[in-house]
Amino acid sequence: MGGGAIVSNVPNGGTQTRRRVRTRGEAILHDPSLNKGTAFTEDERDILGIRGLLPPRVFTEEEQLVRVMSNYRRKTSNLDKYIFLIGLEDRNETLFYRALIDNIEEMMPIVYTPTVGEACKEFAHIWRRPRGMFISSRDRGRVAQILRNWPEADVRMIVVTDGERILGLGDLGADGMGIPIGKLSLYTACAGIHPTQCLPITLDVGTDNEELIKDPLYIGLRQKRVRGEEYDALLGEFVAAAHEVFPRAVLQFEDFGNRNAFRLLRQYRDQMCCFNDDIQGTAAVALAGIYSALRITGRTLLEQRFLFLGAGEAGIGIADLLVLAMVQAGLSLEEARRRCFFVDSKGLVVKSRTDLQDHKRRYAHEHPPAPDLLNAVTATKPTALIGVSGQPQTFTQPVIETMARINARPIIFALSNPTSKAECTALQAYSWSKGACIFACGSPFDPVEFEGRRFVPGQGNNAYIFPGLGLGVIASGGRRVTDEMFAISAQALANRVREEDLATGRVYPPLSEMRRTSLEIAKAVAKVAYAQDLASEPEPEDLESFIRAQMYEPTYQSYV
Ligand code: NAD
Repeated sequence: MGGGAIVSNVPNGGTQTRRRVRTRGEAILHDPSLNKGTAFTEDERDILGIRGLLPPRVFTEEEQLVRVMSNYRRKTSNLDKYIFLIGLEDRNETLFYRALIDNIEEMMPIVYTPTVGEACKEFAHIWRRPRGMFISSRDRGRVAQILRNWPEADVRMIVVTDGERILGLGDLGADGMGIPIGKLSLYTACAGIHPTQCLPITLDVGTDNEELIKDPLYIGLRQKRVRGEEYDALLGEFVAAAHEVFPRAVLQFEDFGNRNAFRLLRQYRDQMCCFNDDIQGTAAVALAGIYSALRITGRTLLEQRFLFLGAGEAGIGIADLLVLAMVQAGLSLEEARRRCFFVDSKGLVVKSRTDLQDHKRRYAHEHPPAPDLLNAVTATKPTALIGVSGQPQTFTQPVIETMARINARPIIFALSNPTSKAECTALQAYSWSKGACIFACGSPFDPVEFEGRRFVPGQGNNAYIFPGLGLGVIASGGRRVTDEMFAISAQALANRVREEDLATGRVYPPLSEMRRTSLEIAKAVAKVAYAQDLASEPEPEDLESFIRAQMYEPTYQSYV
């Protein structure tokens, strides 16, 4: 980064005069990664020549935090809190990360789901200043050259979206940029990936969202989405360019429409170090939740039957990882797949259907059709119901009551985001199952009091997995991201859930322990990288200290 020399013309009494070059001190004061605001010490103010550019009192970071939190909490809407935090990040990155890390439970729903969804919907309207990179379909032939405009050379984590399927909100085009930005701030806050090593990218290939195209403030290309060969050529050029310009970076595909998400993952996963969080990260979070739920029910994975509502990226990703875990536990691939059933918008996914996309076919079993979820529950008798459809209120009272009739402790995961899209609320799940279900959700729900008992819904937040996984891959210099890394991440996450969490029905550990959780996941992932001969860094004797030493801590540097 670095502010660099700034020379500009400014009007002065009708004549033009040249503004002097910014001093090093001024550049530091205006560089969010170096700025300390009112915390510059007396000596620093003299050495950097910034005395007088700040009010006289020197504040500590802790005192600055008090001001930040009081301003933050004074905001009455979540979107205003989001805008406030982005503003802080733009001014003083260290203070932003200190605030985020110390208040992760409170701020995670703001910098990430659900508020980030709201922010994406308003992205063009709340636009302040650029963050990350935009590469458009008009940039074919010069993508590598554009990536070289990024001021940081040592990028290790890239999150890229084409904005087609933002959370459960659909096509938000270039406005989807809020997602890579939010995810990368969690990589830093939750796992200590250095902010300068993170690069959010939006591939703007147009949008099929008519409202956006008509919006006079929309920031993206005002054209229909580019598809087919042209799309593939841009993606191919981008992936190759990213690898060329940032050879040590992990590439995370994020919120692509499912037609492209499965294809891109299949195409690139064996060629470079990449993964798709919507497919694979979600899967690991869900599998961890299932492991914890089984500790409550006292059953084994091999005794389960899973029914999914929604056969898209999340659903198929979760099923594929569950199948890997069941195979690791002794089942054959076919037996494991037969434990997973899907309902999509046309009913139960069965062999006789002729309308199935490729990714659903491996879960199309010989089974009579069922027109809807309730009939499918009755017919397949699942032990666990997993909602990843983006369709709100689809886990109806009869569905949950039926689950509770079939199972003493039904597992009900309503994972669709944001909150408005959840298949059911926490209160509905606990009350309709008479407190019997083990519930997890995609977006946060408050604890529920039901018949004198307090239930704490676990949030199957992808942020439990991807930061630690990324840290493990980066620390070991992983050349690929494998399914085994996701499977081990799920186990490492589940191991962090304490008995007292389970006692309230909570299947995930507290978010406040995220950095410790990420470290455990990173260790497990790095071990897989070494075991699978995919690491390019030598295996350290003390893996934990080695990884811990790489984790960014937001503390001010000294300039004296
Ligand atoms: P997707 O578009 O790939 O898949 C959605 C699927 O739902 C499709 O198969 C579609 O056919 C199906 N569907 C649509 N309407 C339906 C209906 N009425 N009945 C049954 N099925 C229907 O999207 P995705 O990436 O799989 O995400 C789905 C949802 O899961 C989103 O809301 C997303 O926010 C959520 N999600 C949650 C987490 C999490 O909690 N950690 C992670 C990833 C995704």
